[in-house]
Amino acid sequence: MTTTLIRSARWCAVWDASQSHHRYAQNIDVVFSEDKISHIGPNYDGHWDHEIDGRDSFVMPGLINIHSHPQHEPSYRGIREEHGRPEMYDTGLYERSQAFALDDDGCQASAELAYGELLLSGVTSLADLSSMSSWWIDLIARSGLRGFIAPGFASSRWYMENFHELKFNWNEEAGRKNFDKAIKFMSEAEAHPSGRLSGVIYPMQIDTCSEDLLRDCVALAEETDRPITTHASQSQVEFLLMAKRHGISPIKWASNIGLLSPRTTLGHAIFVDEHPSIGWRTKEDVSLLVDSGTSVAHCPSPFARYGHAMADFGRYRRAGVNLGFGTDVTPHNLIEEMRLAIILARVMANDIKTTDASMVFHAATVGGAKSLLRDDLGKLEAGAKADLVLVDLTQTIMRPAHDPLKSLIYHGADRAVKTVFVDGELVVDDGKVVHLDMADAAGRLEVAQQRMLKDVPKHDFLGREAKDITPLSLDL
Ligand SMILES: [Zn+2]
Repeated sequence: MTTTLIRSARWCAVWDASQSHHRYAQNIDVVFSEDKISHIGPNYDGHWDHEIDGRDSFVMPGLINIHSHPQHEPSYRGIREEHGRPEMYDTGLYERSQAFALDDDGCQASAELAYGELLLSGVTSLADLSSMSSWWIDLIARSGLRGFIAPGFASSRWYMENFHELKFNWNEEAGRKNFDKAIKFMSEAEAHPSGRLSGVIYPMQIDTCSEDLLRDCVALAEETDRPITTHASQSQVEFLLMAKRHGISPIKWASNIGLLSPRTTLGHAIFVDEHPSIGWRTKEDVSLLVDSGTSVAHCPSPFARYGHAMADFGRYRRAGVNLGFGTDVTPHNLIEEMRLAIILARVMANDIKTTDASMVFHAATVGGAKSLLRDDLGKLEAGAKADLVLVDLTQTIMRPAHDPLKSLIYHGADRAVKTVFVDGELVVDDGKVVHLDMADAAGRLEVAQQRMLKDVPKHDFLGREAKDITPLSLDL
């Protein structure tokens, strides 16, 4: 058994089980043996094989990302940031998903690049909501991440024939086939020798899955003790469409069909019935989330780019919603998402006290772990998994490190992440990803993005070119 000692960490975020919150400790030793933390305390005098000098470090638990799409988001760099449709309340989701289609080689390069970005921003656990590609399991295992594999399936697909309407192609049988395939895929991931992979049941969107399929997902989750994740209340378009179909909000419908539970995580539950842009007759969605123990995956960046925001992070938290963070967009930088969440919450609530660094840190660690049904992740205590991050306090952007969590969230972000361990294995060493070739992946993605751009007229409903949908920032 190999034991690693981080000697005299200048700062450390340790878990206080009696209070159920993180707490600062100074000049403390953190010891892990194989995949588990074995000791946290001053003046360790037991056995160790490797020693790391912690005097320049803030040691914290690895961050938990509960919502991401690594297989395509990086391919939208330069394409997505300013794209949206005014006819659809400024969301660009539907037009973009239809017009821009990345091929399989591109998806692989994209995932490799995203996994690297995630590790560099201190993410150790990743819920990866993606398509069932043949290389997926091996790649995420190789990255060193703790992978929560969420293979997507649905009973229908969206499409557009004009700028203002979303249409659906229903095919229950195809949805069922992919559901069966996803079940096999999750089992394959769970059998991977790394022992770091597990499955998440992922019916893709509340509006693209039939009630029967969603009910079967709930039954499977209970039978196999797996979490479920889906997209719900992610756009005004979706809210109105579900209200038209069922006469109630998407979350109320989810509640009625038994989808809400402590196993369930909704990305993104922004457009709930009480949201100021919805103006619905009820104001009960947030209580439905709380009463059912449903978690919310909060990914502020993509929505903020459309001009949208949750109202607000602090309100959900005070009500008792379990929140975690995700990166629903490139860059895959969970620390920047935490920063944006604080700022947007304050703007939406007009209240500086609504959300702070400790609240988002809680969500990005134990909040995420809870949504994935894990109590051994997101915290530094003896017995927890050895998923931990050393933040470099010598970086000028972190100094003065009077309050290292504030230095990290408001200032340094990924630039200050120096060393990352997952399952006790070194995966980021001195700011470099150990097991992935990010430069090579970026090169392959550049070529794949060109192919994707060339194919846009084939997929777009008006046969437009990419530059007519999402122009460059400056005239060329
Ligand atoms: Zn998403």
